[in-house]
Amino acid sequence: MHTDVLVAGGGPCGLMLANELGRRGIRCLVADAKPGTAFNPQANATQARTMEHFRRLGFAHEVRELGLPSDHPTDIAYFTRIAQHELARIRLPTAAEAVVKIKSLAGSWSAAELPHRVSQKFVEQVLLRHGEARPSVDIRYGWTLERFADEGDRVAATLRPTEGGPAQQFDAMFLVGADGARSFVRRQLAIEWSGVAGIEREFMGGRMFAVYLRAPRLADLLGRRKAWMYVAVNHQRRAFMASVDGVSEYAFHAALRPGEDAEQWGEDDARRVFAEAMGADVPIEVLSTGTWLAGHALVARRFGRGRVFIAGDAAHLFTPTGGLGYNTAIEDAVNLAWKLASVIRGQAPIALLDSYEAERKPLAERNTAYARRFADSVGLFVARPELDEDSERGDAERERASRHLDAHARLEFNIPGVTFGGRYDASPIIVRDGAVLPPDEPNTYTATASPGGRPPHAWLDDGRSLFDLFHSEWTLLGLGADAPSTAAFETAAEAQAVDLRVVRLPQPALRELYEMPLVLIRPDQIVAWRGASAHDADKVLARVTGR
Ligand SMILES: Cc1cc2nc3c(=O)[nH]c(=O)nc-3n(C[C@H](O)[C@H](O)[C@H](O)COP(=O)(O)OP(=O)(O)OC[C@H]3O[C@@H](n4cnc5c(N)ncnc54)[C@H](O)[C@@H]3O)c2cc1C
Repeated sequence: MHTDVLVAGGGPCGLMLANELGRRGIRCLVADAKPGTAFNPQANATQARTMEHFRRLGFAHEVRELGLPSDHPTDIAYFTRIAQHELARIRLPTAAEAVVKIKSLAGSWSAAELPHRVSQKFVEQVLLRHGEARPSVDIRYGWTLERFADEGDRVAATLRPTEGGPAQQFDAMFLVGADGARSFVRRQLAIEWSGVAGIEREFMGGRMFAVYLRAPRLADLLGRRKAWMYVAVNHQRRAFMASVDGVSEYAFHAALRPGEDAEQWGEDDARRVFAEAMGADVPIEVLSTGTWLAGHALVARRFGRGRVFIAGDAAHLFTPTGGLGYNTAIEDAVNLAWKLASVIRGQAPIALLDSYEAERKPLAERNTAYARRFADSVGLFVARPELDEDSERGDAERERASRHLDAHARLEFNIPGVTFGGRYDASPIIVRDGAVLPPDEPNTYTATASPGGRPPHAWLDDGRSLFDLFHSEWTLLGLGADAPSTAAFETAAEAQAVDLRVVRLPQPALRELYEMPLVLIRPDQIVAWRGASAHDADKVLARVTGR
């Protein structure tokens, strides 16, 4: 059995790879050990940049319809106990408001999409449906990658039905381990983690007890305090809970106390711990329980060897503050897929693939550091016993908590800088222009068209997003009424078999935004080069495609 790319793991990363490869007609087999897409909710937030990628693939609107009802609040709210004192709240637009509001936002939030609060389990279903629809894609749940060997010119792999049965041998040009935190592929490649593991904090540092539950009466109890994310801050037990469907399902996560071992905890423990966070007795149906460890900021020392790559949680492990793990996994897939496709089609040398690690590893280091900073901000805050007291001392303590949590919520949940500001400045396939770059800050994003980052976004007069005009492969923007000739690029693209489309936009505002009349945009919507003339088109194209 032959395929171009074998992907171990059908989580968000593997499924995104299938979509990106499938739309380019690349043969791709995704094998996942479990029986289907995730049952548990896991990640709760799709960041704006991920939504822009879903928009590029044509299904952002489908994702935005999932999760909470379109008019459900998406606030993040902090309480002593969820049914008791409210301490802080950050209000964010509902899904219905997001699609309207985005068209009038400027500055940091000038974007094609706003974030969307939706459980990963629903996103995976969309990614699966669109991936499966591609004729060159084969997605098989219930198959485990058991063995592989890089033979120099191909990878030989053994897959076996997880439930048992005869193994099948596969030959692939490349293997991608998108096989999660305990990645078999990473371990087989003997790639170690760097960074820090097991950071201890009162909250978001240590073992967590996860309960996926149904609580049909909770919405009524919450009434006007309804939010998307609820955080319980009290001395007894810290916890957070995300609404999964906006009706009755919730993903609840409680921090364990020193000495507690939740491995053997069952439904009664789930009810007890849930009641502690609520400060009220609310009947629940337990759908699943589990434990996980918060407090990692780990990045693999290498993102692959030879013809084998790792991506997603296999390559980096986050504490979920900031909601960056799944989103970083999606961007790994976006980055790797166009490069694999270019090499497989013979349009680029295999050396292009070296740029995957050069670009994504620094990004993973940056993003894990942001997640760690957010975890410190909320998790090192000490919740004193007085928080629960009905007294003047209690009021003062809640006032102190409110001030801290109010500032924290804005730090962790309004992060255009994190989502749009990631850059590939050290990449060998970016033609840097030496421009002074805006500072990398979590809560503000300053657009720059300097090569290495996301292109600045703009809405056009006819209501379209500039990003919707970009070609699915390479785009050369000719900006301003007097943009120079693009002919040299078109000739070079033909000679080098680069699929390039020229998009001419005379608007002076766009010319000003990009600061140059010619701008080359990669298939993953990253600025690769900009300049005033097409003289060096041959050299530029060779460089950005890894020749
Ligand atoms: C409680 C919690 C909350 C989170 N919240 C957020 C959030 O809000 N935002 C965010 O961005 N991230 C969040 N995350 C992280 C997010 O869930 C992960 O980063 C994301 O799932 C990574 O996707 P992935 O595809 O790389 O790996 P996974 O989703 O782990 O998928 C890996 C897949 O590989 C399969 N597999 C493993 N070994 C093999 C093998 N040998 N052969 C075949 N298949 C194999 C597994 O069955 C699995 O389906 C959260 C995580 C947790 C635990």
